[in-house]
Amino acid sequence: MDREKFRKYGYQLIDWVADYLETVEKFPVKSTVQPGEIKAKLPSSPPPHPEEMDRILKDFENIILPGITHWEHPGWFAYFPSNNSPASILGELLSAGLGTQGMVWQTSPAATELEEVVMDWLRQMIGLPEGWAGVIQDTASTATLCALLAAREKVSGFRVNEAGFEKPLRVYASREAHSSVEKGVKIAGYGRKNLVYIPVDDEFAMIPGELERAIEEDLRNGLQPACVIATVGTTSSGAVDRLKPIGEICRKFGLWLHVDAAYAGTAAILPEKRWALDGAELADSLVFNPHKWMLTNFDCSAFFVKDPQVLTRTFEIHPEYLKTGVDAVVKNFRDWGIQLGRRFRALKLWFVLRNYGVEGIKKIIRRHIHLAELFRDELQQDGRFEIKAPVYFSLVCFRLKAGRPEEELNDLNRRLLEEVNSTGRLFMTHTTLNGQYTLRLVVGQRTTEERHVRQALEIIKEKADELLASS
Ligand SMILES: *Cc1c(COP(=O)(O)O)cnc(C)c1O
Repeated sequence: MDREKFRKYGYQLIDWVADYLETVEKFPVKSTVQPGEIKAKLPSSPPPHPEEMDRILKDFENIILPGITHWEHPGWFAYFPSNNSPASILGELLSAGLGTQGMVWQTSPAATELEEVVMDWLRQMIGLPEGWAGVIQDTASTATLCALLAAREKVSGFRVNEAGFEKPLRVYASREAHSSVEKGVKIAGYGRKNLVYIPVDDEFAMIPGELERAIEEDLRNGLQPACVIATVGTTSSGAVDRLKPIGEICRKFGLWLHVDAAYAGTAAILPEKRWALDGAELADSLVFNPHKWMLTNFDCSAFFVKDPQVLTRTFEIHPEYLKTGVDAVVKNFRDWGIQLGRRFRALKLWFVLRNYGVEGIKKIIRRHIHLAELFRDELQQDGRFEIKAPVYFSLVCFRLKAGRPEEELNDLNRRLLEEVNSTGRLFMTHTTLNGQYTLRLVVGQRTTEERHVRQALEIIKEKADELLASS
């Protein structure tokens, strides 16, 4: 592609993205294609000869776009959001343009130093103590794995890195912890049977007394406790494990405490929600995802550690070909995680933080929380719905009850979800709480306004009417 064509298609694609973001509402939120449908439209072998961008872009619109589920749709209420913003997209574009790979300081000093600075901004925004240091990881799953690896090394005196496991180490998390905890425990070599699930209270938060009991029991049985993972804002219901009592238990027994605040960490920038991270100063590491709820397009996960030396001692490697003259005085982020090569993700985060400012971000987060509360209140007033968990942030867990017997409710709500999603106007997902099929509605899209939430309410009620009338 020559320079002129690059300009032409570059302008064209920015126009396309701008139009897309303005008109995304016209698409069904969730793609309606069937499994295999997209693959069937693509050639099974690679193109032997160059093709024109016009043709490629046409195929993008005709083949790829129908297979897109529109995360930036204002009717996105599924899973957790992964919102973006114009500032973020432009930062990502520049990062691609530079093609920077920031494995060590000298491979782009600005990539490392900007990352240090924006991560420290985030640290201040969510109120972590001075001295904690941050690094961008691809996902919360990776950050939690890094925490598990660092905990393994700290507790074993860095022996597992050298000799492998000499005895089993134990990890504790609540029953409601994210599946990435189990995945991390498997990958880090602890073994799934050494992951101890701690019971939760009726608000789905870890019971600290049960944690202490489990640790003591393991000690009595000669097992070595290593790491506790607390969740602030669980995926199923938004529950908050209380960090103060959990942190004190970890101190008492010398355990690593990792905090998974992937979604709700963003809310801690609001003074009225900072309570969710009270006690985080007792932790050893924490992760939250700007790529979920802070206007920064995927991927961008913020991982903080109290003592970076434990992390770098866990990961550091010193092959001759990576040595540089400044290693003693700079950060080389290759030693802060699993991967060697690193994208320049700090750029888009910098754009977002500057273009919105902390106050601008707070305003959007507050609006989302307010809209979730409005949704909850309206459902409660309807009388046929049951709210299944406290709404601390922007997630509402609920189910249709309407006086029907318990044994009908799982099926009734499964059908309600299908009916609602099939309208294409919104997309919600589900979970189970206490074994009960539960619907989840999360407000988190940058462009979601009151009218979208009211429309969701209308559709949910209308479909509930139909279902109740027909069964
Ligand atoms: C979303 C989520 C994760 C996983 O996030 P990724 O960045 O996709 O790995 C982990 N924990 C919690 C609580 C989450 O909500």
